[in-house]
Amino acid sequence: MNRVPIRQPESHRSRRSAWLRAAVLGSDDAIVSTASLMIGVAAASASKPAILIAGVAGLVAGSMSMAVGEYVSVSAQRDSEQADIELEQRELAGEPQAELNELAMIYVKRGLEKELAMKVAQQLSARDRLGSHLRDELRLEIGSLARPLQAAWISATSFASFATVPIAALLIAPPSLAIPAVSVLSLASLAALGAFGGHLCGAPLGRAALRVTIGGSLAMAVTAVIGRLLGVSVS
Ligand SMILES: [Zn+2]
Repeated sequence: MNRVPIRQPESHRSRRSAWLRAAVLGSDDAIVSTASLMIGVAAASASKPAILIAGVAGLVAGSMSMAVGEYVSVSAQRDSEQADIELEQRELAGEPQAELNELAMIYVKRGLEKELAMKVAQQLSARDRLGSHLRDELRLEIGSLARPLQAAWISATSFASFATVPIAALLIAPPSLAIPAVSVLSLASLAALGAFGGHLCGAPLGRAALRVTIGGSLAMAVTAVIGRLLGVSVS
């Protein structure tokens, strides 16, 4: 007798939780914006304490703005999910037969025969009617609805943690090497984060690291030039 091996489901990377990707994005953002801010101020020939204050202010402002931005956008998503759930509950209460047919039709479209589709719809509805409709009609899982506070907290903490990279670089570097130290350490961390992000998404590591490093260098270069120009014109 042939034994058919039961295959373990592969771990699909795209299924990995959204919050991890949000955290990586927040960290990239923190390094690029804080380092650029500090380099801009440094290029205007400011003193080390002034550059430090700019960095810390950038950390605080960036974390707050990430928290507020994430909270607002994820709350909007949550509201629309909630509205969908309430609408579905009303429809299920008002027109149960029509809703059952609708669920069966979804399975027909996915390739089941009509009678089998109806049987599946009936059995799934008997176990968890609302859950089946949300999952197969609206692609919502009750357990994984959007979480505004979690999103806000995660993006703020990841921003604050990674904004310390350019600040630490400034603190350990001799004053004359402020700009090179901040840029080199920041770009190295960006490359590492880029590779990690690529690993999470299953993308080629080198390409992911290169993309974020080039983006970061451009941001720092542009702010440095503007800082220099402003520094010359103001003083
Ligand atoms: Zn429905």
